[in-house]
Amino acid sequence: MTTLEKMNNTQLQQYLSSLSHSYEEVQAQKLKLDMSRGKPCPEQLDLSAGLMNCLSGADYKAANGTDCRNYGGLDGIPETKELLAWFLEVRPEEVIVGGNSSLTMMYDLIAKAMLHKIPGSQAPWSKLPQVKFLCPSPGYDRHFAICENLGIEMITINYQSDGPDMDEVEKLVATDPAIKGIWCVPKYSNPTGITYSDAVVKRLAAMPTKATDFRIFWDNAYTVHHLTDTRAPLLNILEACRQAGNPDRVFEFTSTSKISFPGAGIAMLASSEANVNWLKKQINIQTIGPDKLNQLRHVRFFKDQAGIENHMRKHAAILKPKFDLVLEILESKLGDKNLASWSKPQGGYFISLDTLPGCAQKVVAKAAAAGVMLTPAGATFPYGKDPEDKNIRISPSFPPLSELQQAMELLTLCIELVSAEQELA
Ligand code: PLP
Repeated sequence: MTTLEKMNNTQLQQYLSSLSHSYEEVQAQKLKLDMSRGKPCPEQLDLSAGLMNCLSGADYKAANGTDCRNYGGLDGIPETKELLAWFLEVRPEEVIVGGNSSLTMMYDLIAKAMLHKIPGSQAPWSKLPQVKFLCPSPGYDRHFAICENLGIEMITINYQSDGPDMDEVEKLVATDPAIKGIWCVPKYSNPTGITYSDAVVKRLAAMPTKATDFRIFWDNAYTVHHLTDTRAPLLNILEACRQAGNPDRVFEFTSTSKISFPGAGIAMLASSEANVNWLKKQINIQTIGPDKLNQLRHVRFFKDQAGIENHMRKHAAILKPKFDLVLEILESKLGDKNLASWSKPQGGYFISLDTLPGCAQKVVAKAAAAGVMLTPAGATFPYGKDPEDKNIRISPSFPPLSELQQAMELLTLCIELVSAEQELA
């Protein structure tokens, strides 16, 4: 039972009027805060300042003699593969180092599967009457935007505490040959913060699929992005697929966007050698090679695994107080009211908040009207439609603590206000 359900009509009216008064006071402050995207804050970017000048004019050769200033090196220089392959626990020959964005690699790969047969395909996907993807939700809005843009039908799958509802996933992929893929953010998921259990990873790897060219799009964007010293373990999906006899089932992605610089980092993809060889042939038509100087820069700056781990602890030291503040305000303002529930992530970039059903859009609109921009309600679901209109993604990373406090106090006020309005309606 919510606090509002315990009130009589007069109490509810008084409560609403006091909330409205507080809201008007905040509006008068003319706030202008943006919490809409999970961007690192300037202090986090400063951590990688050394990347800007860690190469000298004479330092342009990779260990194998490749001149990084010139064309070539389609799948990445060996030392960059080595630097990054450890955190996906994959072998260098299973890796393609790309440009500055893993999202670009995902879009590109699906566009390629539309145009050309991938290993296991009977036809390019664009030649089929229908292509469908499973979309565990709430999920990453830009995954869903790729599907919408390429005309791929999205099927919403509910999340449970340890991954997608696997009974539903197994049932659907076993019977429908049009289902060609599933989006997964398996660790510190955007936005729920959950990490897939071993059982879920094994079921995804082993499940029979009607489509012979079904693929898991394993977006491991937050693999080293721990907020605490307790690291969520995640089973190696490439290995699980190999062991299950489905070695080509998965494409895994990651990038240094939230390790070094978003927009000026390095992205990479890992998959079976068959998939990697197929993809290299395709990429060979598209480019003469990626930016190897940026790859070399990252190797010089981070040096090795310990260098990256140490660097990620510095990110966590900046981020953790922000996550703690958001959770403290949610607890102190809403903790005993049953008007919302929220995730308490151990890593990643987001806190996922659920209001009472039917309130999220109004809450986000009210916050915007008082100067706080949040991720649009519904964005975390296929087609931007949250069936229960309750999920709000909170991105604590960018604003300074003082602004975060103002934004969260306003958000919790809007939740109380909209819930009270709904109770009275
Ligand atoms: N994947 C997930 C799950 C993300 O949350 C983000 C950014 O927020 C990205 C990918 C974008 O990665 P990149 O900068 O490598 O394109």
